[in-house]
Amino acid sequence: MSITAELEPKLLDFPILSARSRGKDFVYLDNGATSLKPRSVIEAITSYYTEYSVNIHRGVYEMSERATAEYDRSREDVAALIDAPTDGQVIFTSGTTESINMVAFSWAVGHVSSGDEILVTLLEHHSNLVPWQQVCRATGAELRFLPIGPDGVVSQDRIDEAITTKTRVVAVTGMSNVTGYVPPHHTIVATARERGAAVVMDGAQFVAHRPVSVQELPVDFLAFSAHKMCGPTGIGALYVAPGRVAEMEPYQYGGDMIQAVHATESTWAPAPARFEAGTPNIAGAIGFGAATRYVRDVGMDAIAAHETELGRYLRDKVGELDFVTLYGVPGTGICSFNVRGVHPHDVGTGLDQLGIAVRTGFHCAQPLMEHFNVTGTVRASLYFYNRPEDVDALVAGLVRIRDIFA
Ligand code: PMP
Repeated sequence: MSITAELEPKLLDFPILSARSRGKDFVYLDNGATSLKPRSVIEAITSYYTEYSVNIHRGVYEMSERATAEYDRSREDVAALIDAPTDGQVIFTSGTTESINMVAFSWAVGHVSSGDEILVTLLEHHSNLVPWQQVCRATGAELRFLPIGPDGVVSQDRIDEAITTKTRVVAVTGMSNVTGYVPPHHTIVATARERGAAVVMDGAQFVAHRPVSVQELPVDFLAFSAHKMCGPTGIGALYVAPGRVAEMEPYQYGGDMIQAVHATESTWAPAPARFEAGTPNIAGAIGFGAATRYVRDVGMDAIAAHETELGRYLRDKVGELDFVTLYGVPGTGICSFNVRGVHPHDVGTGLDQLGIAVRTGFHCAQPLMEHFNVTGTVRASLYFYNRPEDVDALVAGLVRIRDIFA
């Protein structure tokens, strides 16, 4: 197979793709951890720092107006990426982790109580599990799990019984960062809405790799990070559906989130400012906006199609090796596996010597590792700039590692 012709020129947008690692051509297969950054994003950030690196909102001078306009434009671009309705809210956060903590502590603790249930899955990244454990501790609610099968697939026929009238929150991943599996969202959202439960979606992987419309998939909260989709680190967003924002209490207090402050009491600015206390990550937000424009220009459908096809090639080629065990199911650009008899960390170190970057370990998903009965896996994860040659390099590397350890 070859890389989709329309994506080929995009490879030139990523300066780092011509880098070398350990003296070899750099093969980047760790996109689940973070994506590489194209020139347009690097330039948007550099241009803020070189041309108008001043604070937003407060200034009455030209540069501050420009910074404010760019910051606000980024919010519109992020909203457009997920097809947010005009009466929904996009709040800038430091990333998916902060977005989910914001839902947990500015909304859930006030809307969940003893006797209620919070439903998650064993697929969750720790950042969509640990906050819910804490909400349960604080409120007396019970943490329950939507059943998954041995391959980490949600049992479709158990959704109806798992989401009960006691369920207040269903917190589910949009796409597993370990296996790439995409749960049956439409069934989950429809059932949750029918039972009056709010859906919190961890979109860290999902929004970066699939076209997402919160109007077609009406979740209550959607958390995602810029750095997984060509943007900078330390910036992300929380989308809040219309109606839910009025139910949220501020999460942090200070400058920028207030309307009026008196000696003993204060009032809050309207959302989204109410939830963005302090000087925000201005450069990050500007880079995030540039990243959303970039991936939309590449095309989220084209990204998904390329990753599905190359992901199939990846899984087939790795799966053909008789010394490898695969986890999960095919369908996306993430593939988790182990080389039998070799610790995942040693596989990662061996691949690094060949210039190939993968992730090894438990991928912030220890309960899923326990479910698979492993201490960790090797994960190769693709983005639209990966080519079949990257997969071939990985496969050749795995054969070499097997030979060394044999
Ligand atoms: N959820 C998933 C599925 C992820 O892959 C990640 C990042 N590895 C996160 C949450 C956390 O994202 P961040 O570190 O950007 O907050």
